[in-house]
Amino acid sequence: MKNLQKYAPFVVVIAVAVAVIAWTVFTGDEPRDELTLDQFQAEIEADHVVTAEILEKSRRVTGELQDGTRYKVEYIKDFGDELVVSLIDADPAIEIDVDHESTPRWESLLYSMLPLVILIGAFGFFITQMQGGGKMGKFGKATAYQPDKDAAAVTFADVAGADEAVEELREIKDFLEDPNRFAELGAAIPKGVLLFGPPGTGKTLLARAVAGEAGVPFYSISGSDFVEMYVGIGASRVRNLFKQAKETAPAIIFIDEIDAVGRHRGAGVGGGHDEREQTLNQLLVEMDGFDAATGVILIAATNRSDILDPALLRPGRFDRQIVIDAPDVKGRKQILEVHAKGKPLGGGVDLERIAQRTPGFTGADLQNLLNEAALLTVRERRTSITTADIANSVDRVIAGPERKSRLMSDEDKRVIAYHEAGHALVGHVLPECDRVHKVTIIPRGKALGWTMALPDQERFLHTKSALEQRLSMLLGGRAAEELVFNQVTTGAVDDIERATDLARSMVTEFGMSELLGLRKLGQRSGEVFLGKSMGHDRDYGDDIAEQVDAEIGRIIEAAHIVAADVLTTHRDTLDMMADALIEHETLDLEELGELFSGITPL
Ligand code: ADP
Ligand code: MG
Ligand code: ZN
Repeated sequence: MKNLQKYAPFVVVIAVAVAVIAWTVFTGDEPRDELTLDQFQAEIEADHVVTAEILEKSRRVTGELQDGTRYKVEYIKDFGDELVVSLIDADPAIEIDVDHESTPRWESLLYSMLPLVILIGAFGFFITQMQGGGKMGKFGKATAYQPDKDAAAVTFADVAGADEAVEELREIKDFLEDPNRFAELGAAIPKGVLLFGPPGTGKTLLARAVAGEAGVPFYSISGSDFVEMYVGIGASRVRNLFKQAKETAPAIIFIDEIDAVGRHRGAGVGGGHDEREQTLNQLLVEMDGFDAATGVILIAATNRSDILDPALLRPGRFDRQIVIDAPDVKGRKQILEVHAKGKPLGGGVDLERIAQRTPGFTGADLQNLLNEAALLTVRERRTSITTADIANSVDRVIAGPERKSRLMSDEDKRVIAYHEAGHALVGHVLPECDRVHKVTIIPRGKALGWTMALPDQERFLHTKSALEQRLSMLLGGRAAEELVFNQVTTGAVDDIERATDLARSMVTEFGMSELLGLRKLGQRSGEVFLGKSMGHDRDYGDDIAEQVDAEIGRIIEAAHIVAADVLTTHRDTLDMMADALIEHETLDLEELGELFSGITPL
């Protein structure tokens, strides 16, 4: 039945064509005697021809003979005129009718209709095709979203090493289990939770676990599904999705890769963003339209929260943001334990040891690692996974798309730990540096580790001494490497670049060099398009350039010496910090406080 409907236009077109052809065939041509040209000429000479209709197009003559037989004759090209002449010559009484245009009726009809028939047929065919599965078919039609059934089986126990995120999401689960209780108490619950972290850290897993724990429907969609070819579809999908979720509330809507829709409006060059903006606007409208009583919670995931439209992050929208970073050593061990379940691990396999050597690996990487090891075991027809299998699998995991992390050697780890400890210690000792909040040696992006420092209050003016101390902190990593290993590594590229930029600004913009004085040197350029200073156009001579370079060098060297001094003075603390980092990988404000307890800033 469905098929019949699909081909209906096609069938109608063919039926019409057949009818037309049949009609012309049956009404047009009656049987005639076919004569050769010679025979016809003989008939003319014998004066038997009564009527003759000369059809020039098809080079035929039809008509009636005296005895009533109807005839038809084909003649050769350009012979028509001669025929007419001979007909007239023979007997002026012959009814002659010359038809310049028409070929026989049914044939001409067929010929003129054929292209049309084909065209209509093809058109009908494409229409039915598109309705079948093409994009156009979805146009304006309500897409029915089905909740993801598998999510019901996922629980918080499946998520390892993300305790903080789980704690935060437990509240959401409580709410979904009994929204009325929250509504009665007038307790505000976040409408939206934004999970933010690199790929493979378990964002999707966490969202599903919330649904599984609360036992509510889980509507999952990717941001890129909203961004369609046709303007307006994305918005209508958003409307549909929310409508459906509300009907089955309490429910979770999960939007993966929300950055695909939620990108900063107005950003980007050129047109083509209408669709996304409409979709985003619709999303904002929907979020504003529901409250605790609706019982729908929106969870979104992204690894690019920096490009999200600020409107999405305002209170009442995604007002709960949970950062999910690559797990630390403890988390990695727990994740390995979760995924080792049901796999035949050999006796010698030490998950703790694997965890220690895989900083930067995400949950997905670790799962993949054990999987590959199991495959290797199967391939070699062994019955249990060995440590060597796991080590051999690391390469495969790393070779995966865009993986930068690798099995880290203990030596590298030690260097990175000292490097970061160096930054942090200098930052703590020098009084005008921002407070160090967190130090970690878990790689992220191209940084092998990082030290997070934040000012206690926002500052609008920076003193020269504060900038000099910041320079020292930037160089603290390199200084620690020199001090401890008597050796330097490439780990300080980024630090050196930032230090150089800062020192250059001090000399050429802030007038902080006594040698060069209060002058602005060079023109900032590149601001128009990128909103950032991208470089300098020089507007001074070579001798000044030499002085600028010398000044930058002097400022950086002075800061370097300060950093080295601080680290030498507090070498014992530096060692303690590095050890703590090697063990825990991340030190937070509290742990740093303990380590620094013996040191009062200068
Ligand atoms: P994301 O959505 O952050 O990119 P996923 O949730 O899709 O990551 O994770 C992919 C897979 O990796 C999960 O299905 C799970 O098997 C594994 N995984 C990731 N993080 C964890 C974790 N914290 N605990 C256990 N397994 C994890
Ligand atoms: Mg995901
Ligand atoms: Zn550094």
